[in-house]
Formats: sequence, C-alpha cells, structure tokens
Amino acid sequence: SKQGGRNCTTFFTTEMGDAAIARDKIEAALSHAVLAEEFILHYQPRLDIKSGKIVGAEGLVRWLHPERGMVMPDVFIPICEETGLIDELGRIVLEIGCTQAIAWHQAGLDLDVSLNVSPRQFSDPGFVTTLQDLAAKPGFPHGRIELEITETVLIGEHNQIAEKLRAITAIGYRIAIDDFGTGYSNLSYISRFPLTCLKIDRSFIDQLPASGPIVQLILTLGQQIGATVVSEGVETQEQLDWLTDNNCGEAQGYLITRPLAVGDFERFVQTFAPS
Ligand code: C2E
Ligand code: CA
Ligand code: CA
Ligand code: CA
Repeated sequence: SKQGGRNCTTFFTTEMGDAAIARDKIEAALSHAVLAEEFILHYQPRLDIKSGKIVGAEGLVRWLHPERGMVMPDVFIPICEETGLIDELGRIVLEIGCTQAIAWHQAGLDLDVSLNVSPRQFSDPGFVTTLQDLAAKPGFPHGRIELEITETVLIGEHNQIAEKLRAITAIGYRIAIDDFGTGYSNLSYISRFPLTCLKIDRSFIDQLPASGPIVQLILTLGQQIGATVVSEGVETQEQLDWLTDNNCGEAQGYLITRPLAVGDFERFVQTFAPS
C-alpha cells in the first residue's frame, strides 16, 4: 500500500517484509506504543569545531517495537502529528531527554541536550506547562536544554509566537531553528524571536562548496543575532574543512558519528579525541 507515502511503504517492506498492511495498523500499534512507552532516544554528538570537543547532543526518538525492532522517526512522527498522538509522544521525549540531561549534569558531563519539538506539539496549549513541570525537577540544568523547532512553527501570529517563545526561554530553555533555510518563510522573525541556535539543513552541507554563499549567509546571520550555527549532516572531511575555514561554530553528522544509544554515546564522548 502506498497510502501512507514513501516512508510507510519502506516500513512495511523492509521492516515487516509484507507488502500490504494498512496504515491504521501502525496507528493502532502507535497508540499502544505511546501507552506502553516503547520509545527511547538515541543521541548524536555536536562537535565544537574550534575546540574539537563534543559540547552537546541531539536526542532522536526511536520506537522499539516488540516484534518489528527499531522503527525510525520518519515512519511514525508524521502519523503522530496527524493523529494528535504527538502531544503524548512529545511529552515522553521531553521527559526522557530532560531526565538524561539531569543525569549527565550530575555526573559532571558538560553537555547541552537538544530535543525536537513538532509544530503541533508547540501549538498545544499545555506545552508550556509541560516544560515548566520538567524544569521543576531537581537538578534541572537551566540553559542546557535546547528545543529544536522548524520554521513551520513560526508561521502564524508573530506577537503570539514571540510571547510563547519568551515564556519558554524564561523557564530556562533555549530555542534552535531546525532545518534552517528550507522553510521558505519570511525571515523577519529572526530578529524578533529569542533564538540561540540556527541548524543549517543537511541539503546545504551536502552541496558544499557549491552552496557556499548560502552557508556563509547563514553564518553571518547567526553571528548578527548572537546565535550558534550548527551544520547538520556533515559526512566528509572536506565539508568539515570548509566549515572550519568559514568559522562555523558546531558540526553534527556521520563524519563524527551516527546517533548512538545512550551507553554507546557515553563511551563515544569519553574516548573522543579530536583528529
Ligand atoms: P532532524 O531533526 O533533522 O534530525 C537529523 C536527522 O538526520 C536524523 O535522522 C539523523 O540521524 C540524520 N543524520 C544525522 N547526521 C547525518 C548525516 O551525516 N547524514 C545523513 N544522511 N543523515 C544524518 P532521524 O533520527 O531518522 O530523524 C529524522 C527526523 O525525525 C528528524 O530530523 C526530526 O525531524 C524527526 N524526529 C526525530 N526525533 C524526534 C522527536 O523526538 N520529536 C519530533 N517531533 N521529531 C523527531
Ligand atoms: Ca533536529
Ligand atoms: Ca535538522
Ligand atoms: Ca530534518
């Protein structure tokens, strides 16, 4: 069935080995999974280019399906968005990520943790309260947790969004724009919203050095507003060299490592030596 789009088809053929299972089966399995909390986060390190140190990690959700094994977010996040399951899944992700950030902080590991927030989750009226509850946990590392939102979140009434963003940053979270440059949105928000990070979409990094002028533009923009710029999807040494030469702040991508399960991530960070 092509009903659910490319990702679902991949899910069924590669993970289930069976061509035609209806999308509502995933949906049913998902609502069960949300109840049973069958989700974990993998972590992908963020490299500070200048110091050569790992300074943070992005938490990326995985669904541990009891029979199908690990299911990737591209398969189930869109369904969660459409069905509203994202509110609950989003809470689970924030809970896991904040708990992990507290544990690392208490263990003396100096890491920023970024977590993805979907547009629907952001617009949920209970979202700020959820963030407040998490920030009240003992040991919550204020200023160390960054929420990654996409430009689609910012479409709408700017005053209202700015107000919500200010409320969120006042609690102690930072805000990153994910997939920056792919949103085709009016950039006027850039100077109006309290942003601490721009993540350059992988499609631009893929096309270096041809895309150099665009990447340079984003680096300048980041500098102007005092935001860290992170390049996503860095896969080759040539890309990293270009980013180093152009003073990009941080890099994330397979060149450093794929996202890792928490134990592997901790071992990676402890043994990481800049090349
Ligand atoms: P994203 O936020 O843009 O995350 C980056 C994706 O690129 C991740 O895929 C990561 O594994 C992949 N990636 C990292 N480095 C490289 C590289 O060098 N080359 C290539 N080709 N890919 C790289 P993943 O984990 O499959 O996540 C896919 C998307 O699912 C994420 O894109 C994000 O939009 C969404 N997602 C993941 N976790 C969550 C979550 O907890 N909540 C929400 N709402 N969305 C999530
Ligand atoms: Ca992200
Ligand atoms: Ca991204
Ligand atoms: Ca993406």
